[in-house]
Amino acid sequence: GPVKDDSAVSGRVRVAVRLRPRNAEELVADADFADCVELQPELKRLKLRKNNWDSDTYEFDEVLTEFASQKRVYEVVAKPVVERVYEVVAKPVVESVLDGYNGTVMAYGQTGTGKTFTLGRLGEEDTADRGIMVRSMEDILADISPETDSVSVSYLQLYMETIQDLLDPANDNIPIVEDPKTGDVSLPGATQVEIRDQQSFVELLRLGEAHRFAANTKLNTESSRSHAILMVHVKRSVKGRDSFLSSDNENTSHLVKTLKPPLLRKGKLVVVDLAGSERIDKSGSEGHTLEEAKSINLSLSALGKCINALAENSAHVPVRDSKLTRLLRDSFGGTARTSLVVTIGPSPRHRGETASTIMFGQRAM
Ligand code: ADP
Ligand code: MG
Repeated sequence: GPVKDDSAVSGRVRVAVRLRPRNAEELVADADFADCVELQPELKRLKLRKNNWDSDTYEFDEVLTEFASQKRVYEVVAKPVVERVYEVVAKPVVESVLDGYNGTVMAYGQTGTGKTFTLGRLGEEDTADRGIMVRSMEDILADISPETDSVSVSYLQLYMETIQDLLDPANDNIPIVEDPKTGDVSLPGATQVEIRDQQSFVELLRLGEAHRFAANTKLNTESSRSHAILMVHVKRSVKGRDSFLSSDNENTSHLVKTLKPPLLRKGKLVVVDLAGSERIDKSGSEGHTLEEAKSINLSLSALGKCINALAENSAHVPVRDSKLTRLLRDSFGGTARTSLVVTIGPSPRHRGETASTIMFGQRAM
């Protein structure tokens, strides 16, 4: 649908669509066929082909073509873009985390369309390849002061409604605890590693990936069937001018006389590489077990319901239906910022999956 005029209302999820280029196989096998989509990034529009002469047109907050660089993707999805019209909504995810709010970036799409490429690439051979996780940490580390502030991360996998610690594989059933007063979510027992420099963060991500692979081999499943969740906790002590600005109803002379202890400002960045959204045959074909299929369908449809509720400014966001949405509870609404990247491929053979991914993104807006 069209971009809404009331997009400055809080709670709305920003949605970007990203197309990956054809892979080697598609270049050969589909050489005689047009892509199933046509992108008009300057109009923020995407056309989904219905047949040779007709297509449906959809608008997104951002439309990222197969030529969009990783840097550009990070900037439109997670980072400040100053000249934006919808600055309030666009107040970007990482910046708001640094200001003490919760921010979430999620990638949704069929397996093989670029979710992990977009979020998780480490870019060790070529820094231009770095994905959103690594770029976010770089901006966080650049902004904080090591003497007074701290950054720590947890890295988790959510598989079949069970949360596993990717930084400590023995820790394979982490509970979710919600503070009934504040609604804040915590994961008691999840490893939190303090991060001081970019290199140790990249190593931690690599370790988490290795643990994820080992755990999934043991469970006889694939990473595309679980959600990978990175949580970055930023704690800052706010002094001087900032605490002056954030102290309410007090005049300057009073504030100068009574030296207050520094305020603690806590922000949380959550990056979610979702399980593949492809329609899973409940008969258990393609190696899926029935339970696995049910669990993925459950959590993705629960997520869809929550972000639809946000899009409609509904007072009730149904977070209780899955562990994924319970975990993301403090990312929904209020002062939290959420960006969703929907990833698609160009192949006409996957037109059906591409269409359903596009519709998921549209309903979030
Ligand atoms: P997913 O995590 O959604 O299953 P991946 O991120 O693993 O998908 O991507 C599948 C393949 O496509 C990988 O080989 C990846 O390098 C490639 N790929 C994905 N997105 C892009 C892109 N924007 N540009 C180039 N290659 C891409
Ligand atoms: Mg992946």
